[in-house]
Order: sequence, then C-alpha cells, then structure tokens
Amino acid sequence: MTSVYYPSSRDELPPIRLPHSSCIIKPQAPLAPLTTYRVGGPAEWLVSPRSVDDLQASVNWATTAGLPITVVGAGSNLLISDRGLPGLVICTRHLRGAVFDSETGQLTATAGESVVRLAWQAAERGWQGMEWAVGIPGTVGGAVVMNAGAHQSCTADLFVSARILDSRGQDSILSREEMAFAYRTSVLQGEANGIVTQATFQLQPGADPAMVTATTRQHVEHRHRTQPYHLPSCGSVFRNPTPQSAGRLIEQAGLKGYQIGGAQVSTLHANFIVNVGGATAQDVYQLIRHVQTVVGDRWQVGLEPEVKMLGEFAEC
Ligand SMILES: Cc1cc2nc3c(=O)[nH]c(=O)nc-3n(C[C@H](O)[C@H](O)[C@H](O)COP(=O)(O)OP(=O)(O)OC[C@H]3O[C@@H](n4cnc5c(N)ncnc54)[C@H](O)[C@@H]3O)c2cc1C
Repeated sequence: MTSVYYPSSRDELPPIRLPHSSCIIKPQAPLAPLTTYRVGGPAEWLVSPRSVDDLQASVNWATTAGLPITVVGAGSNLLISDRGLPGLVICTRHLRGAVFDSETGQLTATAGESVVRLAWQAAERGWQGMEWAVGIPGTVGGAVVMNAGAHQSCTADLFVSARILDSRGQDSILSREEMAFAYRTSVLQGEANGIVTQATFQLQPGADPAMVTATTRQHVEHRHRTQPYHLPSCGSVFRNPTPQSAGRLIEQAGLKGYQIGGAQVSTLHANFIVNVGGATAQDVYQLIRHVQTVVGDRWQVGLEPEVKMLGEFAEC
C-alpha cells in the first residue's frame, strides 16, 4: 500500500507523487514564469494537474495537510509577492479540452483552456460571440472568476453555467444567476470559494467564418495599437471608477512614464504598469500605491486594483 506524504517544516521537501494519480507536487517552485508580469517568489508547493481527478487529489492532499490553496490560471491578472506564497498553488493551465456543440451553439471548455485560442477557434467555425475576448490572455477559469471583458462585452454575456470544485472535494454546477456577475467580479471572488473546472458559453453559430475572423483580427490589431502588449504586465491595473476611466485620470495626473525600479506606468496606456526589465513585485506594488495616492490627491477618486495581489508586500 502506498502511503501519502505530508510536509513538515523539518523535512527537506522532496517532490511528492500522489498515489493513484499522475500529479507531482513540487516544493519551492518558482511562480514568476507562471505570471504575465514575470515577477514574484516561489510557491511553497506547486502542482499542475492534467485532469479533474488529479485536481481533486491535489485539493484533498492540501486540505488533509491543512495547507491554504491558491489557484493560478494563466497568471495574467496576478501580482505575486517576492516572498512567494504559502501552501499549495494549483496551476490549471494543463486542464485542457473544448467541445463546440453545433446542435445547441454551446461551447464547453475546461478551466485551463486559453480564451484567446477559443476565440480564434470560434471565429474559424463562423461562431459569433467571442470576438471581443481575443485580446484576453487568460484561461477559461480566470475569465469566469474575473468576469473578464472588453469592447463593451464580458464573460457574463455568454455564460451559461460552470462546474465548481470546493475545498471539501464537492462538485457543483453554478448558473449565471448564482455566479452574481458584476463589473470584473463574480461570486467566486467573494463569499463562495471554489475552483472552476469547466464552463459552458452560448455562442451563435452559422455566420461566415471570414467575417467573424476579420472582426476578431480587428480587435487584436486595435489592442496592439493602443496597449503595451510587447512588455510584461497584468493588463489594466485598476477598475474604471465608472463613469470615469482610470487610464485617463492617471494620465491627467501626469503619471505616464513614472517609474519605480523596473516598474513603469506605461507610456502607451496609463492604466497599465509594465515591467520594463528587472522589476520586482515590490516595485510594482509601490507604483500601484503611488498612483493611488497621486490620483486620490489630484482627483479625490479612490482607484481600486483589478489585479489580484497575492502574498505579503511591504508598505512604504
Ligand atoms: C496584456 C493583457 C491584457 C489584458 N486585457 C484584459 C481585458 O481586456 N479585459 C479583462 O477583463 N482582463 C484583461 N487582462 C487581465 C486578465 O487577462 C484577465 O483578468 C483574465 O481573465 C485572467 O485569467 P487568468 O487565467 O490569467 O487568471 P489568473 O490571473 O491566473 O487569476 C485571476 C484570479 O482568478 C482566480 N482563478 C483563476 N483560475 C481559476 C479557476 N479555475 N478557479 C477558481 N479561481 C481561479 C485566481 O485565483 C485569481 O484570483 C489582461 C491581461 C494582460 C496581461
């Protein structure tokens, strides 16, 4: 019989292979390569399950060991502390699979599927509905949790349902109403916790693939002209304080190009903070706080971060 290994602080932390599973749980694993900012320290433990069964086994392992769980999709909306994260980090990007059902016009995709790839696949089939999403470099799970959106559309507009795995290993299905979507948020950022394992979206099949592909391409080209896609970032750092635009307030406060260490307020789009080379997570964090202070003083507007800041940061 295989016995399961649980960590203790005196151990030398070898990788762990979970029994009856292909999962390997790695100790002290770097997280910076798993984020689009390319900054941050290591995970105490990291696992990248390739199936929902392996995901469940990983959740059970962490729960039994009393370790906190952090989920990372494509890491495109994360600022992870230079000190890293305690507990188990579950990276979902190997949970892949997508089915386009031509009877219903529904797309069902596994949590780690790339939103960009799905948008192109839908366009090439002549399915409308995801053209706006082609510039969002995240996973299906991240898009659902964040209610990612662009070009006056968002994930909630397409969403039908999602399968959620909770920390007790219970599987449930949440409807659109239960997800409580609002601007860049959902119930999964608040009272409910759980891991999105799969989601279903309603699209409109039957259009000319050349037309849908052309619209999709226009969205990509527009973004590459107006946003700094060539540098590491997390996209927009702050939620727009509707009806105002965070980018415009930051720009009008004279902060474009302002830099702390390797973190800079983008000269192309002021709501992006980019890593111009060698930035630390602390540089980005300090710049976020600086922007909040300057915009607050200048415009009496409190900018709220959209980026998820995980772990410990030093206040300056
Ligand atoms: C260049 C660039 C452009 C961007 N443009 C846009 C844009 O136009 N619109 C927009 O909305 N966003 C944009 N973003 C931000 C980001 O891509 C989105 O928020 C995206 O939905 C995050 O998905 P992710 O898989 O990277 O999630 P992550 O960044 O990995 O995680 C985000 C949050 O979701 C949680 N999470 C992730 N997967 C799961 C899961 N399966 N189950 C439970 N929780 C999960 C994480 O714990 C975290 O709290 C941009 C980012 C970049 C770098």
